[in-house]
Amino acid sequence: MTATIFSKKNVAIFGSTGSIGEHTLKIIEQNLDEFYPRVLTAFNNFEKLIQQAKKFNPEYVCIGNDNYYSKVKEALEGLPIKVYAGTQGLIEVAEVKNDIVIAGITGIAGLPPTLAAIKNSDVLGLANKESLVCAGQLFIEECKKHNTKIIPVDSEHNSLFQILSGDKNINEVTKVTITASGGPFLRKDLSEFAEIKLADALNHPNWSMGNKITVDSATMVNKALEVIEAYYLFPKVKNNIEVVVHPESIVHAIAHYVDGSVKALLAAHDMRVPIAYVLGYPKRIRQEELSLDITQINTLTFEQPDLSKFRVLAMVRDVIAEGKALPIVFNAANEIFVNLFLNEIINFVDIVTNIESVLNNFANLEVENLEHIFEIDREARSQANKLVA
Ligand code: NAD
Ligand code: MG
Repeated sequence: MTATIFSKKNVAIFGSTGSIGEHTLKIIEQNLDEFYPRVLTAFNNFEKLIQQAKKFNPEYVCIGNDNYYSKVKEALEGLPIKVYAGTQGLIEVAEVKNDIVIAGITGIAGLPPTLAAIKNSDVLGLANKESLVCAGQLFIEECKKHNTKIIPVDSEHNSLFQILSGDKNINEVTKVTITASGGPFLRKDLSEFAEIKLADALNHPNWSMGNKITVDSATMVNKALEVIEAYYLFPKVKNNIEVVVHPESIVHAIAHYVDGSVKALLAAHDMRVPIAYVLGYPKRIRQEELSLDITQINTLTFEQPDLSKFRVLAMVRDVIAEGKALPIVFNAANEIFVNLFLNEIINFVDIVTNIESVLNNFANLEVENLEHIFEIDREARSQANKLVA
């Protein structure tokens, strides 16, 4: 008989205080004999980071906003936890070798630590879609170079990963469909969009998520970002990615085959399903409370998105076709305008209109390297800010 040496999987959670981070810790908490949350990071929410550190005893924590360093350091005094701070601190804790990294930071801010973590991890659980949208091929190549397996956390892409990986008929897939709930304004008339208030946009019918992605879901920019995300993650089908509105959010993604067969993945709309898939991979983690009772579903509906209301879904086709720097510009403009909307400085409808103006006025150019990505991002942000000023 061979003895098996059992050891826990070390997990680094970037953005542990966010929605994705907290869901990840919830799963880990129920499986502490299998996982150790070795690295936890946050940006502003030092109180929650301290609470998490006291509860889970990570080896490393990092508070991105270094104004809170002394608060975190003092609160964890005497505990065997190394405390880091600032954007450089995020990179330093990303240098720690781990089995799994969960990239749960929002926006391009997640790109530097995620790229650093790719070098030091077997599995990258990617929630931070903005990083992939901005760094695209470079991101995928880094993963290949370091033999790091990317498993998407985004429910649609996680479903596509489950459907397509190892599929011997991948070359016979005619198209893939990712579903969109349609968000809070699916049935709202376009003529009433001008009246939309922040609270309306933050009231998502199916998912409870961070504010930025909740607004992105209301504008459907989230789905546009997801089309770009799928473009990079699933190169064999990159030119055949469709979006269909499915308000029940039970079917997350679908692959269509030449013979008329269709494979879909169904699951409860709860991020613990895809996150547990990433943590357990290639095994499955037991989560009986999330099993889907299909006899209770009754109806599953699918419809074409209304492109007059959600024209960003048409816009993203041009962003992909023109490529080069445009995905970075698209993301940067969106981050700026969503932030202005969250601060109630611009209206809901201005988000997509302004993104379109920034895209139309940007002189597209080839992206040379990582530093160039950040330069383009800064330039697009500056143009977006000028437009509103
Ligand atoms: P959130 O706002 O709830 O959490 C964001 C986390 O990132 C927090 O821990 C925050 O402290 C940290 N953070 C924010 N800005 C940072 C910065 N500049 N530097 C370092 N850390 C920073 O967001 P979320 O809903 O958990 O989403 C995180 C990512 O996952 C996003 O890219 C989102 O698109 C993606 N995602 C989320 C969901 C979901 O259900 N929440 C689903 C699919 C994809
Ligand atoms: Mg999604």
